[in-house]
Amino acid sequence: MADHVIAIDQGTTSTRAIVFDRTGTPVAIGQREHEQIMPQAGWVEHDALEIWRNVQEVIGIALGRADLTRHDIAAIGITNQRETTVVWNRRTGQPVCRAIVWQDTRTQAIVDRLAADGGIDRFAGVVGLPLATYFSGTKLAWILENVDGARDAAEAGDLLFGTTDCWVLWNLTGGVDGGVHVTDVTNASRTLFMDLRTLEWRDDILEVFGVPRSMLPEIRSSSEVYGFAESSSLLRETPIAGILGDQQAATFGQAAFHAGESKNTYGTGCFLICNTGREIVHSGNGLLTTVGYQLGSGPVHYALEGSIAVTGSLVQWLRDQLGIIDSAAEIEPLATSVPDSGGVHIVPAFSGLFAPYWRPDARGAIVGLTRYANRAHLARAVLEAVAFQTRDVLDAVNADIAASGGVPLSELRVDGGMVGNETLMQFQADVLGVPVVRPEVAETTALGAAYAAGLAVGFWDGLEALTANWREGRRWEPRLDVSERERRLRVWRKAVEKSMDWID
Ligand code: ADP
Repeated sequence: MADHVIAIDQGTTSTRAIVFDRTGTPVAIGQREHEQIMPQAGWVEHDALEIWRNVQEVIGIALGRADLTRHDIAAIGITNQRETTVVWNRRTGQPVCRAIVWQDTRTQAIVDRLAADGGIDRFAGVVGLPLATYFSGTKLAWILENVDGARDAAEAGDLLFGTTDCWVLWNLTGGVDGGVHVTDVTNASRTLFMDLRTLEWRDDILEVFGVPRSMLPEIRSSSEVYGFAESSSLLRETPIAGILGDQQAATFGQAAFHAGESKNTYGTGCFLICNTGREIVHSGNGLLTTVGYQLGSGPVHYALEGSIAVTGSLVQWLRDQLGIIDSAAEIEPLATSVPDSGGVHIVPAFSGLFAPYWRPDARGAIVGLTRYANRAHLARAVLEAVAFQTRDVLDAVNADIAASGGVPLSELRVDGGMVGNETLMQFQADVLGVPVVRPEVAETTALGAAYAAGLAVGFWDGLEALTANWREGRRWEPRLDVSERERRLRVWRKAVEKSMDWID
């Protein structure tokens, strides 16, 4: 009897496979990091073939650790780093270049060119997004314009485009031998090409970007059987039945199924998502409008999203570029070795600033330095920057909620790789002034993909069963007094101002 579901979480820094049981408890994990390739300032690439190899390996590791075979697995779910763009040849299976990662800013000139006619919100009414380097459509346009032979091959119908969900699905279902070329509505909603209302590609926008429609995957719901793992796979004949972009997956894994429910995920970046139900809400405060989920032929749920580009990757920067720590976990003891950041603030605008500012001209700033400041103060300022940026986004969410007559968020559900950091979580509650709540299962991204897949094959009956699986793990109450909180926010905002207008 198949008593488990497996989720493949193709993340920015690593790929994981996690086996879950019916209570939503992880039974075993396989994980592999992949190389972060930075050939020049502002460029971030991944090797899509390395990622596919890692997918196969982590499936084997997870099944081995759980002592299970494909017969124990009811379905496969996929979740992915969103917007990261792969273009490959459908006849050879070879990518035409390295995958361009969501943080990569090389497409700024394309964005400027497109925005010259109508501004950055030119398509926002239709697709919910401003023109920005972040979104996959600009990356696809860059590949067609810059990779030798790509445009001709694309026009001849030889090339396929996909985000990494689509790349993994195509390979898992047979690749050049009949691979399924499909993506889900949440990933499609990050391209700049999908009409949020009809859930179809917009030919007029594709034409502006110069993208042949034949390259694009078919858009499907987040929960249905897309295909089956091919014969050489350890999971052969197992249905692949769920796809959700990582942030939407985390929202689903947090059981935030209804309008007004939300979560913030702390990984490479931070992403706060607030479910707006069946309503498409356009933000007046710098948030994105995106698809939350769609189950089979059911109604589409939309969401508002505040995306922060650099949070966990700031910790990596401290480790890899400055060498101040040897591992991410070391930041916590170092940061708590001093009582405060000594007045130091770091604004990590490495790729400009995302929500709620959307300022591509911003660059990173460290301000408030004195002769007294040391590495521990920097470490503390890194954690504080994560919490302050989240506060800025939460303010934007609450402003949008207030504008539509709703009630501000009374607590924040959190998850992701950084939420093991208790110092960060306490500071987050202090800066927000509302409690921060971590569920017992913090692997919500993989869990959300597992849920989507399990629902499609009847492994779980419905959303109520999933809501019943959500259990509170830990809660942090705000402790900082209000006047001190306000003072610190004022100083933070001065620091943010300093990071802007940096590029001539
Ligand atoms: P992603 O899914 O984006 O690849 P994860 O959710 O796996 O990211 O989180 C990894 C991120 O969390 C890394 O950027 C790492 O620097 C950061 N991180 C991991 N452990 C800690 C910690 N104890 N304190 C602070 N940051 C951490």
